[in-house]
Amino acid sequence: MENKQIYDTVIVGAGPAGMAAAIYAARAELSFCLIDRSYAPGGQVLSTYEVDNYPGLPGLSGGELSDAFKKHCDKLGCNFITADITDITPGHIAPNGFFNEIDPHTQGLDSINELLYMITTNEGDAYLTKTIIAATGASHKKAGIEGEEEYAGMGVSYCATCDGAFFRKKDVAVVGGGDVALEDAIFLSRLCKKVYIVHRRDTFRAAKSLVTAADAIDNIEFVFDSVSKRISGNNNVEELLINNVKTFGDRVLPVSGVFIAIGIKPTTELFQNLVACDEAGYIIADESGKTSMPGIFAAGDIRKKPLRQIITAAADGANCVTSVEGYLTK
Ligand code: NAP
Repeated sequence: MENKQIYDTVIVGAGPAGMAAAIYAARAELSFCLIDRSYAPGGQVLSTYEVDNYPGLPGLSGGELSDAFKKHCDKLGCNFITADITDITPGHIAPNGFFNEIDPHTQGLDSINELLYMITTNEGDAYLTKTIIAATGASHKKAGIEGEEEYAGMGVSYCATCDGAFFRKKDVAVVGGGDVALEDAIFLSRLCKKVYIVHRRDTFRAAKSLVTAADAIDNIEFVFDSVSKRISGNNNVEELLINNVKTFGDRVLPVSGVFIAIGIKPTTELFQNLVACDEAGYIIADESGKTSMPGIFAAGDIRKKPLRQIITAAADGANCVTSVEGYLTK
């Protein structure tokens, strides 16, 4: 291990938080790399049809914004590595030159001369780093509707911008009542014959501007107070059975597609044993990104926070780099 490079920081995840961190880390002249399992950087932004609230860039698509982030990183010479991380191990280099693993839960970290992390990947590579910026974001939640798993990819989708084109001139349902559900419905209304938005309450969680925009579209129907019970069909989806929670009446929506947009869950598997998380699995970290584990910082949707937006994710990435610099100079 003696001759192995020890990075100042390794950024994990190439969404807005990770790429913003890379831009700031490059400008701070830190030694670092960014590891993401996907060949296409951008994270959830990639599946956003139109990002209309990123300052200065109205109307840009998610793909265009991701591209712009990546080009900015490339211009600064950021080192992107595509690999699936299998393990993150805290430890230190022992006098014999070997990496000695430590158990942060039982071993006092104060006794460690220089705390390091070894990041191993499915490619068989190992990276040593003094700090980590965790920016692995979040992924789509499953609704647990009967038939949801069975028809995944055969009419059930979690990404309207990715799969919407398969439902051209057909009827579809979007399940959910947040920003994503409304954005998806508006996007799908341009392709599909009819779009039902099935929401379990009688008011949307989504931003008022999205609700107003969807309400003005003729081929979108709001279906309130309704829970989705069963997705059925033959080889592909043909029906969504819903139940009204106030009247208890059933209704069958004759749809070819069901888009599930009921929120996200954090991608924290790699960090759960290392840092404190809340009951929903989000890493507990303040605006500085500092977690319960020295040297590990959290940025973006992975962090417990009140507002998960591209702009707050990017801000987190920048803040984490400042925190890393502070940590390294201590
Ligand atoms: P969200 O805001 O958490 O909304 C999830 C929606 O799904 C809620 O309406 C919720 O109902 C409903 N829901 C949850 N579990 C359900 C279940 N099991 N069955 C049926 N319905 C269920 O999630 P999101 O819309 O995916 O948005 C995630 C985050 O990204 C939000 O913070 C959002 O503001 C942000 N976002 C930002 C942008 C942007 O910056 N342009 C774009 C899209 C999203 P209840 O309302 O009854 O809880």
